[in-house]
Amino acid sequence: MKGICILGATGSIGVSTLDVVARHPDQYRVVALTANGNIEALYEQCLAHRPEYAVVANENNLEAFKAKIAGSAELADLKVLAGAEALQTVSTLDNVDAVMAAIVGAAGLLPTLAAAKAGKTVLLANKEALVMSGQIFMQAVKDSGASLLPIDSEHNAIFQCMPAGYITGQTAKQARRILLTASGGPFRSTPIADLDTVTPEQAVAHPKWDMGRKISVDSATMMNKGLELIEACLLFNMDPDDIQVVIHRQSIIHSMVDYVDGSVLAQMGNPDMRTPIAHAMAWPERFDSGVAPLDIFQVGHMDFEQPDLQRFPCLRLAYEAIKAGGIMPTVLNAANEIAVDAFLNEQVRFTDIAKIIERTMAEFKPDSADTLERVLQADSEARIVSQRMIADIVA
Ligand code: NAD
Ligand code: MG
Repeated sequence: MKGICILGATGSIGVSTLDVVARHPDQYRVVALTANGNIEALYEQCLAHRPEYAVVANENNLEAFKAKIAGSAELADLKVLAGAEALQTVSTLDNVDAVMAAIVGAAGLLPTLAAAKAGKTVLLANKEALVMSGQIFMQAVKDSGASLLPIDSEHNAIFQCMPAGYITGQTAKQARRILLTASGGPFRSTPIADLDTVTPEQAVAHPKWDMGRKISVDSATMMNKGLELIEACLLFNMDPDDIQVVIHRQSIIHSMVDYVDGSVLAQMGNPDMRTPIAHAMAWPERFDSGVAPLDIFQVGHMDFEQPDLQRFPCLRLAYEAIKAGGIMPTVLNAANEIAVDAFLNEQVRFTDIAKIIERTMAEFKPDSADTLERVLQADSEARIVSQRMIADIVA
């Protein structure tokens, strides 16, 4: 029986994880659930899954959560913690074996890194944490002997296509290239001139995947693929030039590995995050995820296209950031988080997102990112600079 802590339990990945956990009560026990704002959902999840701990990350919501559970005799033994530090407390508990890192954005870094340092099995959905702290994060995993298993569907697919016995962080020598697939998002064929006026609602309406708002906007700009490119470089120890992004709009192949003998291995399946979640939770075995079998005849055919970097400048910026190295991926990620937030709050246009990131990156040099302090400093400085870029655009 393994104990699991789910960071970001109330989000899209958190909910899918609990769905998988509920199918395997003989193998997984929920030790801790965390949420930021959605107290109602956290309460319902606590009733259904009976964790030992619940963490309300945003302390302002603690009283409301306590008031909710006060009336439930079933939750009398629930230990309730609050605040960002409590996320680290629960991600390193002795009876936690696996940590699902499903908080969105930089807020997930410290509890995910703490889990890695504590030698836990880290089920990594929170790509921003890895992108912003790449070198430190991968070193922490190596030093502690933690297992790092990718949840992002593409990286989970690549991991599944790696040679037997492969562990993340190694270079698979016979693998010459990774083909990283992308759906192309909702604006794959929208006239470029129309992108100026797209609304947040249009941007979050993804054609293939049902996800949180931030990653949905990232998919529309293709910054999601940019972050995934950086994520792939780190997880699989590959050069960015050996990773080719491929637009595959059916989202049936979740990525491929091209080997020196000409074999190209792909992992396929319906676009449902419960597959990579169940894969990582059962690894090295497999178990049921609840996902329907793929109907290959209904898929019929599959298309592949080159991405257009004019249409998707965010993808170009991600290539530039990883090639520059040092703090540049941290800066890219921070500027993107600020710009996406401003777009969702209707302060800036969709096409301003890439401009804000590019102008922010231009203010930084690729200084070393080898300590957590440097990473956190670059993250906060980049946030300040991108707010200034937004103010310039709005003015
Ligand atoms: P979401 O917005 O649906 O959920 C985010 C979760 O994080 C919620 O539980 C929320 O309460 C919590 N949270 C938000 N801000 C927080 C803060 N400041 N402190 C603590 N907790 C906070 O997001 P999602 O779509 O589930 O994505 C989660 C992560 O997984 C992201 O990093 C995303 O890139 C990655 N991911 C998601 C998908 C997907 O299909 N949804 C696929 C691949 C990777
Ligand atoms: Mg993905």
